Amino acid sequence: QCVAVCPTGALTEVDHTTKVIRAIADPTKTVLVQTAPAVRAALGEEFGMKPGTLVTGKMVAALRQIGFDYVFDTDFAADLTIMEEGTELLDRLTRFLNGDKNVKLPILTSCCPGWVNFFEHNFTDMLDVPSSAKSPQQMFGAIAKSYFAEKLGKKREELVVVSVMPCLAKKYECQRDEFKVDGNQDVDFSISTRELAHLIKEFNINFEELPDDDFDRPLGESTGAAVIFGATGGVIEAAVRTAYEVYTGKPLPKIDFTELRGMEGIRSATIDFNGLPINIGIAHGLGNARKLLEDVRSGKANYHAIEVMACPGGCIGGGGQPLHHGNSAIIKARMEAIYREDAGKPIRKSHENPYIVKLYEEFLGKPMSEKAHHLLHTHYFSKKKDIYIK
Ligand code: SF4
Repeated sequence: QCVAVCPTGALTEVDHTTKVIRAIADPTKTVLVQTAPAVRAALGEEFGMKPGTLVTGKMVAALRQIGFDYVFDTDFAADLTIMEEGTELLDRLTRFLNGDKNVKLPILTSCCPGWVNFFEHNFTDMLDVPSSAKSPQQMFGAIAKSYFAEKLGKKREELVVVSVMPCLAKKYECQRDEFKVDGNQDVDFSISTRELAHLIKEFNINFEELPDDDFDRPLGESTGAAVIFGATGGVIEAAVRTAYEVYTGKPLPKIDFTELRGMEGIRSATIDFNGLPINIGIAHGLGNARKLLEDVRSGKANYHAIEVMACPGGCIGGGGQPLHHGNSAIIKARMEAIYREDAGKPIRKSHENPYIVKLYEEFLGKPMSEKAHHLLHTHYFSKKKDIYIK
């Protein structure tokens, strides 16, 4: 068993690759893999490639050779997260503008389990402030074991969902009780970028020479908005792309919100929603998150929406990525790769993903519907008793 220290300070890494290989070898199981956006921007480094080399196609080809039955993309679920989180933002905003005093603003992003764990320990008076939307990893698992299982004509227990994540906290997230149905986890195993690299090497796959392959459908289609989830500021930029168009009913004058990008630990910007100024805050690194949240709690900061990522740089700098030893040039190169992939995508707004549109038409109804709420939203718990707080 491989054990390493998580940069979020609270978690340990347990290697589940052996269990994944056993599941692949089990003829009674259908094994699906999903890969997070930041993985493709860093995996190549484990094979001697330059930081910032995008290896999306090779990664898909390698996962097929390892033997996964379906190779899907967490980015699909990132688009789904935007549909739910963006709708929740607009719902809270509309109620606030209509004078509802009970509405909680700013909405906080909730896709980073390192951050979720942190606020469940340290900001227990604000547990109803974060978005109730599950993270993309967990939305993927919930949809895979319901919608996709139905399409395959299989029971959820016959499916094994594996995630490849830049993150060690995702291992803990997928084991949380609220992400299980009768003890069966929505995501069975989460392995890190480094563990995937080890697996590829163990299988003697010549990674550098692999021809590019493409994700399976329907859970493999994604937009540029989903890709940028991997970098600090990306989740909120993706949300703004959709929320702007839904709120104003007009197409965006520009897709890139460069004012939301960058590496400063705490950033802010105001986005004009056709005459309505929306104040956005961004923090990466838990020290910065604490500072920003304390300003919100004391009333010093006035935001409508805040994105927090626990790791410096966001998921591209996650604890499961190839080690970068704090080298900011490596983080910058990975970040540029993420924005390059976004810029090259034919569709760059989550609400225009045709497979997401179909998912709502065929299965979920509309964002925040009862079914969407049941499958795609969660709640948070106070964990204050677990630790000593000054
Ligand atoms: Fe995981 Fe870090 Fe990304 Fe949070 S920012 S989801 S802890 S890799």
